[in-house]
Amino acid sequence: MISVFGSANMDLVAYTARAPQRGETVAGRAFATIPGGKGANQATAAALAGADVAFFGAVGDDAFGPVLRRGLEAAGVDVRGLRTVAGSSGIAQIVVDDDGSNSIIVVPGANGAVTGASADDLEVIGRSDALLLQLELPMAAVVATARAAGAPVVLTPSPVQELPGELLDAVTLIVPNEHEARAITGLADPEEALGALLERVPEAVVTLGSEGALYGSRAGERLHVPAVPVRAVDTTAAGDTFVGALCVARAEGRSNAEALRFAATAAALSVQREGASTSMPARAEIDAALT
Ligand code: ATP
Repeated sequence: MISVFGSANMDLVAYTARAPQRGETVAGRAFATIPGGKGANQATAAALAGADVAFFGAVGDDAFGPVLRRGLEAAGVDVRGLRTVAGSSGIAQIVVDDDGSNSIIVVPGANGAVTGASADDLEVIGRSDALLLQLELPMAAVVATARAAGAPVVLTPSPVQELPGELLDAVTLIVPNEHEARAITGLADPEEALGALLERVPEAVVTLGSEGALYGSRAGERLHVPAVPVRAVDTTAAGDTFVGALCVARAEGRSNAEALRFAATAAALSVQREGASTSMPARAEIDAALT
């Protein structure tokens, strides 16, 4: 079983020829509401990849809360640990222009009200093969939950920020993309950044977009897993799909090489479709693409 303690957001996406300047109104072409948030995305990816998944977080008592909850349930995620709190759900207001550039405002809403996992939550987390954390909840809540987890902690350090030592001390596997790896270590070379990360945590994966991913462990294992060559139409949540699938395969006892190939295959399927949670592959698709 996989536990995820993290954010749930509604992405409000307006598509327009060009983004408005200050004080300006422009006509948009289309609009979509897409469930997102890195926590909910990773939970969805892991559930679709075949694991029992429990999600812990919060939504607001607004119109988006029930939609976010139902979206997770539809993917098979156990949402008994998803609270409803007064106020707005987390949202990301996204403007996508014809060049494909984004401008985004993220309002944490209910995510900002999460203080930590309850005793009941920790009982479930403690029975899990892994606890997946990201940095879209208040840092104090993330740190407290990581320290109390009693399960291997897998951290996606996004959005990137300074990482408290007490958080890193509780992490088994850290999975930054190459930009996050550089920001954390100050090293531009992903191999060198991987080496620096391993001075703080036992295992690390640096994802490299279409270049694949690097894995390293303090025990001395090093792997490079190439990306599956595909025509990408939307790489949103490729990283979350990768992490979710990676942890499912590790929980099934696969070798790191096999688990990374499973994750790269899931992520490659997701980049061939639009959206975040809407683009994630089911287990049967991943298995079919692997053979
Ligand atoms: P995002 O922020 O878009 O969710 P990320 O920056 O966290 O993604 P990436 O390093 O871009 O993460 O991608 C994660 C993994 O997804 C890569 O290691 C790779 O396996 C797969 N991937 C990403 N982009 C592509 C692509 N264009 N083609 C095939 N696979 C891809």
